[in-house]
Amino acid sequence: MTQETGETMLQSRDRATAGPRDRVVLNLPELDQCVHCGLCLNHCPTYRVTHLEPESPRGRIHLVRAVAEGRIEALDPARGTPNERFAEHIYLCLMCRACETACPSGVQFGRIAEAAREVLGPPGSPMARRLARLAFTQVFPFPRRLRWLASALRLYQRSGLQRVIRLMLPRRLREMEALLPTVPSRFFAPEADLPAIGKRRARVALLSGCVMSTLFGEVNNATVRVLRRNGCDVVVPRGQVCCGALNVHNGETTAARRMARRNIDVFLDAGVDAVIVNAAGCGAAMKEYGHLLRDDPDYAERAARFAALVKDAGEFLAGLGLVPPSGRIEMTVTYQDPCHLAHGQKVRAQPRQLLAAIPGLHLVEMEGADRCCGSAGIYNITHPEMSKELLTEKMAAVGRTGAEAVVAPNPGCMLQLRFGAQRYGPALPVFHLMDLLDRAYEAKTDC
Ligand code: SF4
Ligand code: SF4
Repeated sequence: MTQETGETMLQSRDRATAGPRDRVVLNLPELDQCVHCGLCLNHCPTYRVTHLEPESPRGRIHLVRAVAEGRIEALDPARGTPNERFAEHIYLCLMCRACETACPSGVQFGRIAEAAREVLGPPGSPMARRLARLAFTQVFPFPRRLRWLASALRLYQRSGLQRVIRLMLPRRLREMEALLPTVPSRFFAPEADLPAIGKRRARVALLSGCVMSTLFGEVNNATVRVLRRNGCDVVVPRGQVCCGALNVHNGETTAARRMARRNIDVFLDAGVDAVIVNAAGCGAAMKEYGHLLRDDPDYAERAARFAALVKDAGEFLAGLGLVPPSGRIEMTVTYQDPCHLAHGQKVRAQPRQLLAAIPGLHLVEMEGADRCCGSAGIYNITHPEMSKELLTEKMAAVGRTGAEAVVAPNPGCMLQLRFGAQRYGPALPVFHLMDLLDRAYEAKTDC
């Protein structure tokens, strides 16, 4: 990790060599809102670990401004490849947006980081960048290909090949391989629309999600059951695709815009009162479709209309008024605020209200519940050391609560916390909020 400060990095660069495209893309109004007060610094996970200015929100804003003003290059002018030092600082950011919550000037840092990544393209070595491009443009936008890939991974895990390969891998690759989630035997694939149970209160559409439908199909099924028990007709529109959040966060914005247009068409055609999302990262990205497509004359208005319909599942149910579950769950849990729910969508109280409505359930708060767990999309693969640092800190905070389980309504957090529970302890289960509500409605008390 570099030891230089943001200022020295700026001074070391030719002040007149930035390419015009970088300057146009990064000439952002958000940059002018920063008053350099530094109040965000101690809320930033990468700054808390490194104590380096370029690894803070303020330092990164300095760097992006330097590109916008032509004082440093984001890309090598001759080869068009990323300026590695600039990319290193931009990609060490987790995109957790904790700095936005802390900022008194309302700087939307996420938009600055996304624009910088749009200029840079995906992170890593040339080979890693090519693989990431392939995944983001040829796999994620195509649900069928994603399922083929998940099926192949399931076969790898169940055939015994995984055990053999693990013995052969070098330590670094073995650690990356250990992060692979277990693929369940069934994917989420509802055949028909699902009617409300009892008096109809709303008609909603559910985002299947790429990770949610392949790795967390049971959570999607639980979400549908909970919505129906709360008087919602649930449709799962065919033709929908991945939300594009991973693409946006990794500099593949063109593909993300294509995916957003597709989802807007499919979901607006469904004629629903709300679009329900049970993955915090996806919900935050879809609420930003208006911004993503702001310069698209054909979609700007539709995107804004669509974004207004998007609701996190917990946010929606709390707003609708939860039908109280009758079953008891005698358990003490702690709640992890997913970054893109707490900081990205400002949804904090609603999930806690829903947990409080479950008879027998006791919620105990952990220290730093809204601090990133180090998952951050593919960050735990691209930056394993920083991710591990944040995860061990998180698991220690979980352990101090004495809770019997963690609740985290986001697939990335769930995978990361399950890995942390297994690797560092305490060894406890990790639930999605919809899982627990579903169990309470089903009156199961054995979880
Ligand atoms: S998004 Fe998170 S990691 Fe990135 S600068 Fe802001 S607080 Fe730091
Ligand atoms: S808190 Fe906001 S205004 Fe202050 S340095 Fe951080 S981003 Fe800039």
